[in-house]
Amino acid sequence: MNIPTHVLTSYWAAQRLRARHPWAVALGAFIPDTYYTAKAVKVMVRERRLPGPDDLDYFRPRTKPADVLGHSLLPAGATLLGGWAARSPRVTALAWGWLGHIVVDLGMHHTDAAPPFAPLSGWVFHAPVSGSEQDRYANWVVTAEAVLCILCGWDLARSRRSCTAGQ
Ligand SMILES: [Zn+2]
Repeated sequence: MNIPTHVLTSYWAAQRLRARHPWAVALGAFIPDTYYTAKAVKVMVRERRLPGPDDLDYFRPRTKPADVLGHSLLPAGATLLGGWAARSPRVTALAWGWLGHIVVDLGMHHTDAAPPFAPLSGWVFHAPVSGSEQDRYANWVVTAEAVLCILCGWDLARSRRSCTAGQ
């Protein structure tokens, strides 16, 4: 799933579930792809061009520690436990967003699937569909993500309007 879809759908789900800190959930959903964002920004700043799939290591098994650990359930789960132990609803919300990203990604990556139990295990689940591989229905996945974004945006705008109308 692409970064804006992760962030928007997580924010929408947090709003729908009446989570206390939906922005923390959205930020948590962004954490795993910090590596890609940093790479994209580096290409744009240093080379003054938009990054392509090759710049972002798409379609390849994942090897970079920041990427692999960002997509591992272990640091995300530890953050959740830490949030509970510290009684911090913001950290807990952040961890739920992070975990949600990982779980969604499990069903949407094939060749470039991340090992969910890294660094303890390198096992990967190769999903039957992928947003980055044409022979894995990428066009359908990308279209479904776009529709999902539109629906979430529409629902958020609608609920915001009804909130302000009630004030
Ligand atoms: Zn991801």
